[in-house]
Amino acid sequence: MRDTELYQMLLGLTAPWEVTAVNITQPSAGRPLGEIAVTVQWQPGAPLVCPSCGGVAPGYDSRPRHWRHLNTMQWKTFITADVPRVNCPKCGVKQVRVAWAEDASRFTEVFEAFTIQVLKACRSKVQAQWLTALSWDQVDRIMERAVSRGLTRRSLDHLTYVGLDEKSFGKGHDYVSVLHDIAGKRVLDVVPERTREAADMLWATVPPAQREAIRACAMDMWENYMESTREAAPQAAIVHDKFHAARELNKAVDLVRRAGHRELKAQGEQTLTKTKYLWLKNPRNWSERQRESFQSLRLDTLKVGRAWAIKEAFSDFWHYHYAGPAKKFFDRWYFWATHSRLPPIITAARILKRHLPGLLAYAKHRITNAVAEGTNGKIQLIKANARGYRNFVQYRIAILFHCGGLDLYPDGCAP
Ligand SMILES: [Zn+2]
Repeated sequence: MRDTELYQMLLGLTAPWEVTAVNITQPSAGRPLGEIAVTVQWQPGAPLVCPSCGGVAPGYDSRPRHWRHLNTMQWKTFITADVPRVNCPKCGVKQVRVAWAEDASRFTEVFEAFTIQVLKACRSKVQAQWLTALSWDQVDRIMERAVSRGLTRRSLDHLTYVGLDEKSFGKGHDYVSVLHDIAGKRVLDVVPERTREAADMLWATVPPAQREAIRACAMDMWENYMESTREAAPQAAIVHDKFHAARELNKAVDLVRRAGHRELKAQGEQTLTKTKYLWLKNPRNWSERQRESFQSLRLDTLKVGRAWAIKEAFSDFWHYHYAGPAKKFFDRWYFWATHSRLPPIITAARILKRHLPGLLAYAKHRITNAVAEGTNGKIQLIKANARGYRNFVQYRIAILFHCGGLDLYPDGCAP
């Protein structure tokens, strides 16, 4: 069998495409892998088809192009071809479609599919780049193309529960806003900042018909997100994230602890030294030693002890399945908290009260942004690989690539 016949078979090419030459470049100092270039030709005289309308059209000229393909053994392999252009009476001058690659790509479809698999398995662009012997920009382009393929194919029907969430990005205090499909466990989109405009932009990515079907949206007690949601999806219940509420209370307990610690220290007492995490941890997760040190703290006389008890009591709020009893519980708790004479606790209680409708909505909808915990872990990993994402656009692409639940592969190339 001749090399051209072998490659015709390996590539699965059928007439009128034919392999006319196979050229080998030996490895050298600057090119340690060695390369194989497979020349493919459209048989001269074979009728040409317009890619737009599918009609037979007269030839116009041809353009040289080349594509990276999967390696042959350890040899980097390329396809090169003079691709004919037709002069279609209906559509004008068009390049005919090749059998092995998408229109604007410089990689064959199977090579793109392989790179997507490698990227998914590695989760690190550096490793994927090394395994595929691609440049940084080439990896970017394959990811971008995969995501845009996926977004074109994506269905937003049946959205019911979504979440608006903020994530830090980069080294400074930059933030991005993320729209999650909570039920579908996928990220719908990412935009810079956590402003009102950011939330509006995210809502704009969901067409009105699908937006109207959304039952509830989980979010922090964050005015920008709330206002935007009321306008974009007025029927959707706003559900405040229970972990965000817990964070507010934890913050308050810690403020009380620090103030108390300073007071006691001034009197020469070390009682509260090294207890910070004790007050933040769920008592069920305390170690034996933590339990003992807690008991020796003269709970009732310490302000932080009272603050802690108030915070702990609030966790029962989340067990209610009906807004009525939940509201009754809240009123009792609120009275207690606001009469505690602990300013940080009073402030936190007032924040919760201001957001009571969104807290009560949890009884019915029971969603939090942490439902996307798997997703958050992945985003964390993407951030850890941040040197691969020099700017926001690439960060967004990476999040959608890994967390978007998208169909990324070229047609017929899904593994
Ligand atoms: Zn045409």
